[in-house]
Amino acid sequence: MEGSSPMLDAEAVADLVLLDPLTEESLVQTLQERFRRHDIYTYIGNVVISVNPYQALPLYTPEKVEEYHNCSFFAVKPHIYAIADDAYRSLRDRDSDQCILITGESGAGKTEASKLVMSYMAAVSSKGEEVNKVKEQLLQSNPVLEAFGNAKTVRNDNSSRFGKYMDIEFDFKGEPLGGVISNYLLEKSRIVRHVKGERNFHIFYQLLAGASPQLLQQLKLRQDCGHYGYLDRESSSLPGVDDAANFHAMQDAMRVIGFSPDEVTELLEVTAVVLKLGNIQLSSSFQANGMEACSITEPQELREICELIRLDPSMLEQALCTRTVKARDETVLTSLTVPQGYYGRDALAKNIYSRLFDWLVNRINTSIQVKSDEQRKVMGVLDIYGFEIFQDNGFEQFIINYCNEKLQQIFILMTLKEEQEEYVREGIQWTPVEFFDNSIICNLIENSTSGILALLDEECLRPGVVNEDTFLTKLNQLLAKHKHYESKETQNARYITDTSLPARCFRIHHYAGKVTYNVTGFIEKNNDLLFRDLSQAMWAAQHALLRSLFPEGDPQKASLKLPPTAGFQFKSSVAMLMKNLYSKNPNYIRCIKPNDTKSAMVFTPELVLAQVRYLGLMENVRVRRAGYAFRQLYGPFLQRYKMLNRRTWPRWDGGDREGTEVLLAGLAFPAEELAFGHTKIFIRSPRTLFDLERQRQER
Ligand code: ADP
Ligand code: MG
Repeated sequence: MEGSSPMLDAEAVADLVLLDPLTEESLVQTLQERFRRHDIYTYIGNVVISVNPYQALPLYTPEKVEEYHNCSFFAVKPHIYAIADDAYRSLRDRDSDQCILITGESGAGKTEASKLVMSYMAAVSSKGEEVNKVKEQLLQSNPVLEAFGNAKTVRNDNSSRFGKYMDIEFDFKGEPLGGVISNYLLEKSRIVRHVKGERNFHIFYQLLAGASPQLLQQLKLRQDCGHYGYLDRESSSLPGVDDAANFHAMQDAMRVIGFSPDEVTELLEVTAVVLKLGNIQLSSSFQANGMEACSITEPQELREICELIRLDPSMLEQALCTRTVKARDETVLTSLTVPQGYYGRDALAKNIYSRLFDWLVNRINTSIQVKSDEQRKVMGVLDIYGFEIFQDNGFEQFIINYCNEKLQQIFILMTLKEEQEEYVREGIQWTPVEFFDNSIICNLIENSTSGILALLDEECLRPGVVNEDTFLTKLNQLLAKHKHYESKETQNARYITDTSLPARCFRIHHYAGKVTYNVTGFIEKNNDLLFRDLSQAMWAAQHALLRSLFPEGDPQKASLKLPPTAGFQFKSSVAMLMKNLYSKNPNYIRCIKPNDTKSAMVFTPELVLAQVRYLGLMENVRVRRAGYAFRQLYGPFLQRYKMLNRRTWPRWDGGDREGTEVLLAGLAFPAEELAFGHTKIFIRSPRTLFDLERQRQER
């Protein structure tokens, strides 16, 4: 190949492994320069960094798909398609299961990236009728899950409020057979509360804007968003978003996936119930015994809900306003206070919705799951929230950051493993690399006896008065000596830190930085309890779907055993995810958000630098070039640089490897700069490569 290679432009290297010198500053500068040129993709070895352009670039046309399909990785500019193609070919031709891990903060472009990967694979695999149906179903799962799982936030108008992992399964010819989706940690608190300028989940607005008058009537809904306590009028419509059109697209998608009309109706009925629960108003009145009691002041809404779910209104009313307490052989009905009543109402709405979402994922899986038992190859795609450091960090951030800590761990392990394997394969001496092992932080959180999650569970199970203060005291006592844990006590005793801890907080030194967590809400969120009266009422409804969401409401089955805590469940699903990922060959897409205003062409270096740190990119480059920064098959390498030795070429008729040896011997590089593998030449430092490149340009 003649001319300058898209990979070897010293001012804006396409692969950060070639960055010289390597500093945080030069790394960010390179990304900025590339961004300016609309080169939003950059590599670190086979990791692709993607900087959100916030504008439609002509990068995803059918011609582009063609260009990257079966191209040589090195001959074209970095692109998400190149990674997708590489992964797809390894899967098809080398029988190795792959996973594509997409991380980055909210709004960085993860979900768009995952869709690009999926559509690329759909485009390059074959086009038979059966296969097309499978592809359509896989692709159409997106609008359905986005309607129910995405919302407008201050960071992203279409923010995924859940983590998603999808295994796409292929047959031996590389044709998609189906898939399995797993979801993680839906942000269910959004159902009852969202900050100003944000919205509830898209589906509510879509439903109100897009449903026909008959459907609205059937669901006993009014079209006006402002009527619903869980929504608000101001943000009912978004510029550039057509909720009604999206509602129809979502319904079409459900049809393609294979939802029956009855299933869709039931799904929407339950959705309407969630919305209507928010309009149930409670007030206090005095009972005969002088005690304060809670009662419902909006019987109309209650009646309608109960018509929708075919339940006796007095039963729901009782479940919302009172609580059955079993004391020895007696059952006593005690009245709730108004705040307790609202708490129960909101807990019910959140529970119905999050279980409905789980049902939705399962229902999609039923359609897309592979029915035959032929041999399969698997491509996993992970689109999950990145590291979060906010002004106030609570239980959710703690859990999310734990997940990212695990992903970082697996990243280091897998990258090192892969490097090591390549060196062994090529017969090259391997020197161990120094790197920061974050298992100490993972342990601090997940250790089954002394980890923070275990201590939280212990506190949640403890009889008597439990609150967050006793929890925090316990952490401070037991973890005081841990190097990555900081509390008020340790601050006084051990070292003076840059910022002191506010009340009710502890701090963890994550790989990506220090995060201060406020323990308020930890116990409640971890327990995630729903009053039993409410689950029993839901189970009593003659609504097949709703009822199936509350199996524990069956009085016959109701045991006294507490359900697993939220933290415990998350820890188990993360462990399963890690095991799954570890069995595959990893491919990484690291997404970066260039500015906070969703603007095209704006690149704020400080913001990018923070993300470079959270993503551990410096560590990534270091690990990648710990041994050799550059490697290439002898053939293409010789092809490119043989002109540096005009005496031997073009008369050379030996093999590529000998040719490379002769060529490099003539250029007198220090011996430790080069290593000759079985199939590839390895060059230690970027400087040597650029030296070669410069000599080539000067000829
Ligand atoms: P995340 O999933 O990381 O929160 P999204 O993938 O939803 O972020 O992206 C947020 C928004 O950024 C998208 O709605 C889109 O407007 C824009 N965007 C993301 N990736 C691209 C891209 N490759 N090209 C153009 N716009 C993009
Ligand atoms: Mg997303």
